[in-house]
Amino acid sequence: MRACCDIEPSPRSPQHNATAVAMEIFTGIAVSPGVAIAEVVVFDAEELRIPQRSVAKVEIDSEVIRLDEAITRSVADLDVQHATVREELGHDVADVFSWHKGVLQDKGLRRNMVKLIEERCYSAAYAACTVMRNQQRRFMQMSDPLLAERIRDVQDIERRLLRNILGASGEDLAHLSREIILVSHDLSTSQTARLSTTKVAGVALDVGGPTSHTAILLRSWGKPAVLGLNNLSGSVSGGDTVIVDGVNHLVIVNPDAAKLKEYEARRDRFSQIAGELGNLRDLPSVTQDGVEVELLINIEYPKESAAVAKKGADGIGLYRTEFLYLRDSEPDEDEQYQAYKDAIEGAGGAPVTIRTFDLGADKVTQSKRFEPERNPMLGNRSIRFSLQNLEMFKIQLRAILRASASGPLRVMFPLLTSLIELRQAKMTLLDAMEDLEESGIAFNRDIEVGMMMETPAAASQAREFTREVSFVSIGTNDLIQYVLAADRGNERVARYYSASHPAVIRTVRDIIRTCRRASVDCSLCGEMAGEPIYTLLLLGLGLRKFSMAPNNVPEIKKVIRTCTLSKAERVAKRALSFDTDTQVTNYLRNEMKKLLPDDPV
Ligand code: PEP
Ligand code: MG
Repeated sequence: MRACCDIEPSPRSPQHNATAVAMEIFTGIAVSPGVAIAEVVVFDAEELRIPQRSVAKVEIDSEVIRLDEAITRSVADLDVQHATVREELGHDVADVFSWHKGVLQDKGLRRNMVKLIEERCYSAAYAACTVMRNQQRRFMQMSDPLLAERIRDVQDIERRLLRNILGASGEDLAHLSREIILVSHDLSTSQTARLSTTKVAGVALDVGGPTSHTAILLRSWGKPAVLGLNNLSGSVSGGDTVIVDGVNHLVIVNPDAAKLKEYEARRDRFSQIAGELGNLRDLPSVTQDGVEVELLINIEYPKESAAVAKKGADGIGLYRTEFLYLRDSEPDEDEQYQAYKDAIEGAGGAPVTIRTFDLGADKVTQSKRFEPERNPMLGNRSIRFSLQNLEMFKIQLRAILRASASGPLRVMFPLLTSLIELRQAKMTLLDAMEDLEESGIAFNRDIEVGMMMETPAAASQAREFTREVSFVSIGTNDLIQYVLAADRGNERVARYYSASHPAVIRTVRDIIRTCRRASVDCSLCGEMAGEPIYTLLLLGLGLRKFSMAPNNVPEIKKVIRTCTLSKAERVAKRALSFDTDTQVTNYLRNEMKKLLPDDPV
């Protein structure tokens, strides 16, 4: 992730904090609906908060002092570290800290930092960050691999210096005392996962696509978010007021009084609607002409299973277990067993569909962080990774099987492209069953085994697959990216990534139809299931099980309770007759407007 300070000088006045600033509007990709208004905090890669990019002229001298004091403190830290490491590991290892010290005491680097503070009114943190990033870039361009290795060291030095400049103001998000809007170039999946318990009211990122896992987490967390904003993080400073409009794909920086008033009213309307939707919780999800539809939720963490009851859902259609692995150490079998059992208990007797870990692509373990693949979405991800790491896979399967003794649990495998993979995965499951049997450990031998249908290969062999599984869950997030050759996490190709594309809706139609003919249970757990404009279409195509972010359940229930199956079938038929995704989207949007004229989404 690029740091907030790794940018060209801002086209705006460096002193814009001290003077009135013009309103600016940025357009991106809305990934979580709602309106949030608050002051902004710009984050860098290491979550060191740089509260201000620029300072007023009168603060220049104190910023230079701040820089010098931080350099002195950093050098002192290094002396301590050098002594400790020399004692424990010897001279050679400790020498790296002498090199760090040399960089920090380099007169030229300090001179460049001071120049940025004095001439451009940069804050000490921002100036340090800018100079150190330039230094990293120089190392990056060196052909000598030993020197290129030094980039990590320069990053370490930069972090140490920033921590010493920022002190308490650089604390992590967990300690915010008031609501803020978080702006960053990017957020990794694991960084995003940590936001749910903070006071972050909304998120705006430079990069990211509509169904990236960062987007999915933001949506299940339920805070307004807009991604793919290009250079937003380089255009705002700590303290700017920002509106995140997660419906109209907008981020408004320093809104004028009229805009602010308009958006405060919109924000209130949103909370009012959320309150009204809450009343649907205990009502059945059934169409006006009596067709029952199951609404399930997607979860990433066991504690989210409580949302089944809270949102009035029928169970868990997708538990993304790989989130257990996105931390410093891998979970062992007992820890996994406990997590799966917690999810079952939290769901209060409702069925739980667990997916074996879908690692790789944008979800990598800490140990894989430094081994990036050239084209990770087409790389060693998902079931491929599981089958290449059989021991790890088997540990998970044992934990899942053990948990199956405590409630209604089904298991499914992600991203299959061939029947061989399915058979290998099922063999590994049988192996795990034998292990447990030998050890006398209880599990459900008749556990239902299913698959995610999310590659064009699997879709075109749907008939063969349905002979070997008990259920199918359509993963449109991946299916769309592979059918349309558009990376789901890349904002630059977001306009090519469309659930409305005729090729996508025909593929989904064919899968649903094949499952029906084979009497195999079929659900859809991609983000499309939680988007109201697709509800009539999917219902009309024959889908009766929708699995989505918990926050989407009330809205989808409302659509289902308002429509009839015959209407949905007419809509599906018409939608299938169009040639382009734009026609389909416009048509579905109009139908939704007719059905729910007051709905803001
Ligand atoms: C999908 O691909 O549609 C899906 C639900 O799985 P994930 O988003 O975790 O890849
Ligand atoms: Mg998927």
